[in-house]
Amino acid sequence: MTFVQPFTYQALPMRVVFGAGSVASLPAEIERLGYERALILCGPEQEATGRRIADALGARAAGVLARARMHVPLEVADLARDRARELGADCCVAVGGGSAIGLGKAVALAHGLPVLAVPTTYAGSEMTPIWGLTENGSKRTGRDPRVLPVSVVYDAELTLTLPSALSVTSGINAVAHAVEALYAPDANPIISLMAEEGVRALTRALPALVDDGQDIEARTQAQYGAWLCGACLGSTAMSLHHKLCHSLGGTLDLPHAPTHTVVLPHALAYNQPGAPQAVAALSRALDGAPDPASRLWELAGQLGAPRSLRELGMAEQDIERIVEQVLANPYANPVEVTAPGLTRLLQAAWAGEPPATGS
Ligand code: NAD
Repeated sequence: MTFVQPFTYQALPMRVVFGAGSVASLPAEIERLGYERALILCGPEQEATGRRIADALGARAAGVLARARMHVPLEVADLARDRARELGADCCVAVGGGSAIGLGKAVALAHGLPVLAVPTTYAGSEMTPIWGLTENGSKRTGRDPRVLPVSVVYDAELTLTLPSALSVTSGINAVAHAVEALYAPDANPIISLMAEEGVRALTRALPALVDDGQDIEARTQAQYGAWLCGACLGSTAMSLHHKLCHSLGGTLDLPHAPTHTVVLPHALAYNQPGAPQAVAALSRALDGAPDPASRLWELAGQLGAPRSLRELGMAEQDIERIVEQVLANPYANPVEVTAPGLTRLLQAAWAGEPPATGS
């Protein structure tokens, strides 16, 4: 029998409408919530999807703003907030990946407008109260319950166009949320259940959807995993892996999801010695793999994902700067983070070597 340690669990209010074709229920969803004028937010590439949603909403659509960009630049957030006010919107529908949903959250933060999210990648932002805003090249993040979407509609049909490479990296980005939730300082048995199942669902779905991007069952399973992994990020504090990726992305402008994909096996290998319960859960999720970090590294290779920071454009001499930055901001981690350990980790991740367990 497993001994259950004392814990605190705070459930986040979340409403999920899940299933292929479920975007058709968005007008009813908005009506049920009592909103009358929705501003649709999306990126330029998703404008056609945004307009289809606006057409379906009819008089309940206030307009479409197809200006979402990576990391939510402040000027785009201000534009969206002003447009929402001019159009008399009483809610936003954010359609797209973490960038579009991040824009919806920025409007919620500035203006208090509720957000409904229609995710089209697997990044998981729709399940979290975490917002981010970028000003003069520097990204601020925070948690605020007002930015948590009031309803999330997961429709795998909208992900059929997501290219294989983006599917894989955003899926592994989601897996990283679950991995760190399993050894988080505020880990709890409920979130750990979600984390284990999220890793299981995503790591089984990704090979299938790389084989056939039109496999709606695999796409649906990947969204199910993304939902669970996103909920893990929303409910627990993240550790070494997320701090490293934040620093690499913010300082060196490395691409978000590919950076998570490269770093995850290395950060996990570093933490495995101090996180036996996480290792056991991940091993169960990964078909009994005894060393989850190595298994995730192999999986990234099988899926054709990037495995080195070098191929993402990082220069080797930047390793020292990142080590200093990460050490300068203390945070909870299951294994002590030391300069030599972190340097070794980043050297292996930079070169694309297999992860090495140990601190
Ligand atoms: P993204 O939203 O930037 O999308 C990546 C690319 O995929 C874009 O070019 C987009 O147009 C395209 N795309 C999206 N859906 C598509 C589809 N169905 N078909 C074809 N193309 C599609 O990337 P992302 O990985 O979803 O999100 C990354 C951003 O989200 C980062 O800024 C990250 O910081 C943020 N994020 C935030 C949280 C949070 O909790 N706040 C969680 C995860 C990620």
